Amino acid sequence: MAPTVPEIVLPSATGQRKMPVMGLGTAPEATSKVTTKDAVLEAIKQGYRHFDAAAAYGVEHSVGEAITEALKLGLISSRDELFVTSKLWVTDNHPQLIVPALKKSLKTLQLEYLDLILIHWPITTKPGAVKYPIDVSDIVEFDMEGVWTSLEECKKLGLTKAIGVSNFSIKKLEKLLCFATIPPAVNQVEVNLGWQQEKLRAFCKEKGIIVTAFSPLRKGASRGANLVMDNDILKELADAHGKTIAQICLRWLYEQGLTFVVKSYDKERMNQNLQIFDWSLTENDYKKISEIHQERLIKGPTKPLLDDLWDEE
Ligand code: NAP
Repeated sequence: MAPTVPEIVLPSATGQRKMPVMGLGTAPEATSKVTTKDAVLEAIKQGYRHFDAAAAYGVEHSVGEAITEALKLGLISSRDELFVTSKLWVTDNHPQLIVPALKKSLKTLQLEYLDLILIHWPITTKPGAVKYPIDVSDIVEFDMEGVWTSLEECKKLGLTKAIGVSNFSIKKLEKLLCFATIPPAVNQVEVNLGWQQEKLRAFCKEKGIIVTAFSPLRKGASRGANLVMDNDILKELADAHGKTIAQICLRWLYEQGLTFVVKSYDKERMNQNLQIFDWSLTENDYKKISEIHQERLIKGPTKPLLDDLWDEE
């Protein structure tokens, strides 16, 4: 039987919307042999109910096709059983472009509403096609208040159940909270054993903002040595528990009370990642985990990197 992923109620969401603590990431990887449609369909079969997409990933169409297929196959009886997140790209971070951009995402996903929409990065560029990395010469001023007011409008229009942000520092969240009439439900940021983000997590907890950890295995965008998956301390812990390093990483996030989005398009690893809800880490594990070198993996989406993106946090 598929394990049931625990859920949490999202703050300031319409209708007590619940978010499964673990979601499937869908950021594209050149090496993946499985299509997003097939991966999402397989994930639904295995019991995943939360999917993390973004306009910039170019996967919204495939995620939508998989959902339609899952309904047709009777894997789910209603779209309401799923929690679907998407993110607005920096080209749309203009107050007047937010509502049309979200409507475009919904059309591509073939959905009537999203569960959560996030501002992908606290950066605005000139409107236009997605470019990655972002060319700094395209950057214009980020009107946080105007953009957030338009997101609030999206929620009021019923286009999304909840609104949130991604890659926001404490300083940026503090600024946002000064004018938000609907506070952000979520801040999606990098959190993994190699970048544990204690300060930001404590701040979000105090303010009632759910943290969703991305790159929980520190793997998706990394090339070369991986501080987590190639870590000898974690290998030892994994062996002692009869688990994999990935499972140790995900279990730790779960025990921190975080939500997280992990990407695997491989059937076995997808299943392995679900097997983390019925065992625990020990005090000794925590001692060892505190020795892991800390360093941010995803330093920013621009080329060159921006000096002030993380506000020195
Ligand atoms: P990740 O989930 O930490 O790692 C994904 C990689 O790990 C894939 O190459 C996957 O390969 C492999 N993997 C998964 N499970 C495994 C296991 N049990 N054992 C060994 N390898 C395993 O990294 P991520 O994709 O960067 O982050 C996850 C999601 O977070 C993204 O897909 C995206 O949705 C979101 N994200 C958001 C932002 C943002 O700015 N908001 C930034 C980055 C990521 P296989 O598919 O072959 O298993």
